[in-house]
Amino acid sequence: MNDMTLSPDTLAALAPSELAMVPFVSVQDMMRLVHREGLDTVLRDLADHIEADFRRWPEFDKTPRVASHSREGVIELMPTADAEHYGFKYVNGHPKNTRTGHQTVTAFGVLSSVDNGYPLLLTEMTLLTALRTAATSAMVGRRLMPEGAGTMAMIGNGAQCEFQAAAFRALCGITRLRLHDIDPAATAKAAANLRAQGFEVDTFRSAHEVVEGAQVITTCTADKQKATILTDNMVGAGVHINAIGGDCPGKTELHRDILHRASIFVEYPEQTRIEGEIQQLAPDHPVTEFWEVLQGTAPGRRDPREITLFDSVGFAIEDFSALRYVLGRVRAGAPHITLDMLADPDDPRDLFGMLERSKGRG
Ligand code: NAD
Repeated sequence: MNDMTLSPDTLAALAPSELAMVPFVSVQDMMRLVHREGLDTVLRDLADHIEADFRRWPEFDKTPRVASHSREGVIELMPTADAEHYGFKYVNGHPKNTRTGHQTVTAFGVLSSVDNGYPLLLTEMTLLTALRTAATSAMVGRRLMPEGAGTMAMIGNGAQCEFQAAAFRALCGITRLRLHDIDPAATAKAAANLRAQGFEVDTFRSAHEVVEGAQVITTCTADKQKATILTDNMVGAGVHINAIGGDCPGKTELHRDILHRASIFVEYPEQTRIEGEIQQLAPDHPVTEFWEVLQGTAPGRRDPREITLFDSVGFAIEDFSALRYVLGRVRAGAPHITLDMLADPDDPRDLFGMLERSKGRG
């Protein structure tokens, strides 16, 4: 049963013991899924799943993620559940990793049945996190960015950068990009990748230059400190800021004066006040929970001159939606293998007997 891809017909024909096998989507499988479906389709489908789950926000168990901090980074667990499914993601954030050839962010996740607690899916989530983060940013951006926006400045041209650009084109129609990174090699990499995708790309040596004339600014840097990627004088009226990189205590990207001028939109305030840009503000500073904008109970952009800020830290419901999406694709035949990770004795209470009977079987 290991190492095979199951069609829906095969799944339906399986004996109960075989159903104890858990589908696993590897990095290779995730790449095949994206190529088969098309990147834009995946990003739009993910945004649809995330938006659908944000619209039923009160139905979820919610908690700030459980974070284990060290000097160089953080390892986090991000759980949530509705009445049917429980999901969690394991994810790290280690800004210095790229110096040794490792990713800053890697992740995997699980979706389980609430009814019997059995895992339904185990999947890589490094690519999936980049995809879901981009889909979330663009889902928010299409509600908040100024009308007719066509140019986005991107500060921080690492792993997340191209995914963000792709989502802003697929969902918001952004086709012109202005790129800047303190590491020119990162900008050169992103520029080459994005030009190959058909974007109009300009590159800049300074953050001051890169934001000129952009209606959307994405900050996507990784540094474990209170950085000031954007100062107040760099942000003109009417701009939408998509702030992705400040997502840990003591790790921010924006000068606090910008926060005082902006209308701030967040995922889950209880987590964002610990991790987001708003950790720099008083605990009662007003923010809007984005799910309320989708539900129509809170306004989005109210004025063309308003500065809107999505203070993104990444919330468990976005991963839950992404896991739901991948399980749906797997059930429709997307590439995966199955893993023997659930004990399945003939008599559920005879776990020991199962162990004994397996003696000598190699
Ligand atoms: P990465 O290490 O691949 O890229 C980060 C880039 O930022 C690097 O190229 C680096 O040179 C650049 N950089 C650092 N300081 C800079 C500065 N002062 N000015 C300009 N560029 C600077 O990391 P990544 O995977 O792209 O992630 C970027 C950030 O996004 C991380 O902080 C990560 O934790 C965060 N993130 C957030 C979410 C979310 O949901 N909000 C999801 C994924 C990642």
